[in-house]
Amino acid sequence: MMQARHQFSTPSDNWCQVHFADSEIKVLRASKQYIYDDLGNEFLDCVSSSAHVGHCHPHVVAAGHAQMLKLWTTQGFLNDTYSQYMKKLMDILPESLSVVYLVNSGSEATDLALRLGRLYTKRHDVAVFESSYHGNISSLVDISSKSFKRLPQGKKDFVHVIPLPRTRNNIENDQAEFCNEAQKVIQKASQNGTPVGVFISEIVVAAAGVVIPPPNYFKTVYQMVRSQGGICIADEVQTGLGRLGGDFWAFQGYGVVPDILAFGKSQGNGFPMAAVVTTREIADSLPEYMSTYGGNPLACAIGKAVLEVIINEKLMYSAKMVGKFLLEGLRGLMSKHPTIGDVRGMGLCIGMEVVCGRPDMKPATNFANRVLYLLKEQKVIVATQGEERNVIAMTPPLCFTLENARRVIGAFDKAFTKASQNDDVAPVPPNTSILGLASIPSNILGENEEEMPGPAKRQRQYEEMD
Ligand code: PMP
Repeated sequence: MMQARHQFSTPSDNWCQVHFADSEIKVLRASKQYIYDDLGNEFLDCVSSSAHVGHCHPHVVAAGHAQMLKLWTTQGFLNDTYSQYMKKLMDILPESLSVVYLVNSGSEATDLALRLGRLYTKRHDVAVFESSYHGNISSLVDISSKSFKRLPQGKKDFVHVIPLPRTRNNIENDQAEFCNEAQKVIQKASQNGTPVGVFISEIVVAAAGVVIPPPNYFKTVYQMVRSQGGICIADEVQTGLGRLGGDFWAFQGYGVVPDILAFGKSQGNGFPMAAVVTTREIADSLPEYMSTYGGNPLACAIGKAVLEVIINEKLMYSAKMVGKFLLEGLRGLMSKHPTIGDVRGMGLCIGMEVVCGRPDMKPATNFANRVLYLLKEQKVIVATQGEERNVIAMTPPLCFTLENARRVIGAFDKAFTKASQNDDVAPVPPNTSILGLASIPSNILGENEEEMPGPAKRQRQYEEMD
């Protein structure tokens, strides 16, 4: 099986980097939050964020099947499924974001968002986070610091890199410092005569190992970008549609509304679809847009069914509650395992930083990898993320239960105990105080009443669906 992958792919091809390359899993089927291999094993899937409402959810499968039997054209004709889906999408978006482009992948969405931003501002320069990832199209490789770092040409002049707002100790101090750093980058670009047109970022930076900026960070930085004539794009390919629990969008938790929103992954529960949403004014700057498959009836039927499941099964509330339990349980392990440097997250987007010890926080990549395999032995599937691949990331389907969370916490405890009996990381310093713990206030998921539909409206939506 692996031989075929290597034969028809290349080592640099991300597709070839299968989970558990040393003892790969051949998956035969999947259901809810479980995947099943050819040996009859059942694994708890903590990584498939695209199986947002659960693998092969019957409502989504039925909607796709019914649509395929009825109408399965490409774009260009009018159809009811599209209008019904748009109506549902509009219900969960801020009023200002009123124009939708349906596309086929997260990369296509972020690329189009970038194009819109550049056309509207008539500027080419882009500000991004350090360790960012926005997709695999050339335009995005240029602006994804995770990607361009690996290329011989490195960073291009039109890209301005903002240090990650990685909260460690004191949120107030961190916040001021991070906003200052962002300001310096934006000011410098202006002073050099190449002002930033577009600031594109994840709001909770999943690609960098689940980095959670301080609560007022985006209010300040969006204002900085806009006041010098730029626009802000939120890349919610990973975080959108309720992954962070409680709300549909990560930006809601920060009291901001982006000028352009890009999302994907979860939107089709694994079916390739994504979207860009923006204001009428910005959309007017794009003279023409055409996508053969974007917005086809099958995608719309599936996208609509996914939204129905999120709402009917109250998955965002469940993600919030189960995620909090999982986060606290994993944080509880820090007192026992000094190689857990930090555990952070929101809803069902959680990252555990594996380090040689606290407070030094030197990344322990091999150790993290060993933990990964020890979890696999216990039939729990996680992945590593971040620049040093030492952050164990968990983005399970939103139907993840409290019982699943308990199992994961127990499995982590066993895996760290076993890994540290034969570890290859530096000796742990005697001081094991929890310095790396980023304590994000629980009110961070609060809403900005002025800019968003607000809790009352959303609650009504839930009641209407009941
Ligand atoms: N943006 C972010 C934040 C992502 O995580 C990804 C995919 N991992 C993309 C964009 C690109 O999405 P896709 O792989 O669907 O093209």
